[in-house]
Amino acid sequence: MTRMARLSAKLQGFGTTIFAEMTALATETGAVNLGQGFPDTDGPPEVLEAARRAITEGLNQYPPGVGLAPLRQAIAAHQLRFYGLEVDPDTEVLVTAGATEAIAAAMLALLDTGDEVVMLEPMYDSYAATVAMAGGSVRPVLLEPPAYALDPERLRAAITARTRVILLNSPHNPTGAVLDDEALAAVAKVAIDHDLVVVSDEVYEHITFDGRVHRPIATLEGMAARTLTISSGGKTFDTTGWKIGWCSGPRDLVAAVRTAKQFLTFAGGGPFQMGIATGLGLPDTYFDGLAARLADQRDRLVGGLRSTGLDVFVPAGTYFVTVDIRPLRADGDGVAFCRELPHRCGVVGVPNAVFYDPAHRGAARHLVRFAFCKRPEVIDRAVERLATLHSGSSTT
Ligand code: PMP
Ligand code: GLN
Repeated sequence: MTRMARLSAKLQGFGTTIFAEMTALATETGAVNLGQGFPDTDGPPEVLEAARRAITEGLNQYPPGVGLAPLRQAIAAHQLRFYGLEVDPDTEVLVTAGATEAIAAAMLALLDTGDEVVMLEPMYDSYAATVAMAGGSVRPVLLEPPAYALDPERLRAAITARTRVILLNSPHNPTGAVLDDEALAAVAKVAIDHDLVVVSDEVYEHITFDGRVHRPIATLEGMAARTLTISSGGKTFDTTGWKIGWCSGPRDLVAAVRTAKQFLTFAGGGPFQMGIATGLGLPDTYFDGLAARLADQRDRLVGGLRSTGLDVFVPAGTYFVTVDIRPLRADGDGVAFCRELPHRCGVVGVPNAVFYDPAHRGAARHLVRFAFCKRPEVIDRAVERLATLHSGSSTT
């Protein structure tokens, strides 16, 4: 690993995020970007209009640090409507600059130097970085293909006397796995037995397929009092650039996160908050339609990837599908494959290895993630381009 001058010891090795690198490569080469997960269509018109209206009506100064009241109320109403969870919009909800800030503020708020966070591996890229910023360390629990199911034994084995938090993510990026009731119960038992806080990243809560239902771990018995639930409007309303996220949970946890958050951004995105407040109140047909549209896009990309000869792990949720590239590249070097792909055929993906602890990257060397949150014609174009790889060498 090359050391970066001036960068603190705790952030050495984090470099530039893979999403920034791959999106820059897509822009530079004109490739179809199935790397960074963002939709290529606009969100619901009511949501866009509510944000425009807020600007026109002059909602352009600092919103309250905790978030605008209509959004906090909409978040509380959403938790009740979809999950039966009761949270007080004034004391148990905090609006953040995307889920990313909620995660970072949670780690800064909950960890002391040397504390450990147990999390599912592969892990979303900001998790390890924010744990490092907070002076903590990561204890990964490996999920393995094809099912990427949680092994409760591995979870238990990862807990030590220094563990403070289990950081959960379901529906899970990058694997697309959705934790089932049994897995959630196992996590809950470990959390209760060891008196741990669960931070649950649920940004893909409305994107599940084939009848799978997302269940927040906060709904399990004994868990509401120890769970901080995190979500965001980006994925649910096709507004990833707005960066409106939030967390909800018991007053003491939310107050702790608020303490950190107020010194990170204090507040942000006032007019966008009004847009997301409108979105959270949309009828069920909107949320069902979102999942159905993404299921079609998933099927389209999965079918296309299979036809190119790749081995595909079909996701139960999220924006992402993971493939084993070895049928197309015998040496299974996913990082090299992704770096070359835009030049060879004009498509960008993300090597799953970047979502693993450096010591475990071998386990995912041959895996690559493609995003299907794109219009059908864009998915088709990517598949057509990937199909041309057949004519190339299978080892490079
Ligand atoms: N968590 C996961 C699992 C994600 O995939 C993402 C990226 N969308 C985030 C958090 C960050 O969400 P936001 O864009 O709201 O900061
Ligand atoms: N969550 C998105 C992904 O996994 C990327 C977000 C980002 O660029 N930080 O692709």
